[in-house]
Amino acid sequence: MGKKISVAIDGPAGAGKSTIARRLAGELGYRYVDTGAIYRTVAYFMDLWGVSPKDVDGVNRYIDELTIGIEYDDEGVQHMIMNGMDVTADIRTQEIGQKASLISAHAVVRDVLLDMQREMAEQYDVVMDGRDIGSVVLPKATVKIFLTASPEVRARRRYKELLEKGQKAKYEQVLKEVQQRDYQDTHREIAPLKMCRDSVKVDTSDMTFEESVAAIRKIIEEKLAK
Ligand code: C5P
Repeated sequence: MGKKISVAIDGPAGAGKSTIARRLAGELGYRYVDTGAIYRTVAYFMDLWGVSPKDVDGVNRYIDELTIGIEYDDEGVQHMIMNGMDVTADIRTQEIGQKASLISAHAVVRDVLLDMQREMAEQYDVVMDGRDIGSVVLPKATVKIFLTASPEVRARRRYKELLEKGQKAKYEQVLKEVQQRDYQDTHREIAPLKMCRDSVKVDTSDMTFEESVAAIRKIIEEKLAK
């Protein structure tokens, strides 16, 4: 098996990583790996057991009880399987996102998930998005993108998304949560969100979705042509 191609897309919450990464993976024929969904699955599991995401002892005690499966349907959509149960839809709330941010700060959680993510990239050409893909998970990724946008733009997008899903939301509250998650994700001790020296920064604040996809695709194609 030859060396696989990996596109690492890191960046703060709400920068558009998952929609852009999914689309790119589809266009390129690669597998899309949403690593945030894996952390969310851990958060959801701990939540069901009543373990606070800050309670490192509790997380340590329960983590061995959790088996995570990643499956793909015919459309290439990633499904998260928690102890045999498909929790793909259940993990997509603001609350679980916030808990995932806290839970992902624990070393035990990051260690368990690291091998899982690396194995995916060994088996398939991937577009993988997260916070530490270029810095920790795949330091030798073929292409590293740091995808960002201003907190206000990200909050506005997430707010719209929530309303479209029929969930109740207030813009000010969403902005506060975006800022809080940025703080947590950039200030944690292990694998904080940061831009790698060999990443290409793409700021989508003033770009449409199509423009963002095209910009990143160009970066990938240029790199692969070398
Ligand atoms: O991307 P998403 O919002 O689904 O991620 C949920 C949380 O999981 C993030 O706020 C982040 O703290 C954590 N995460 C991480 N490392 C990754 C992906 C997500 O720490 N590679």
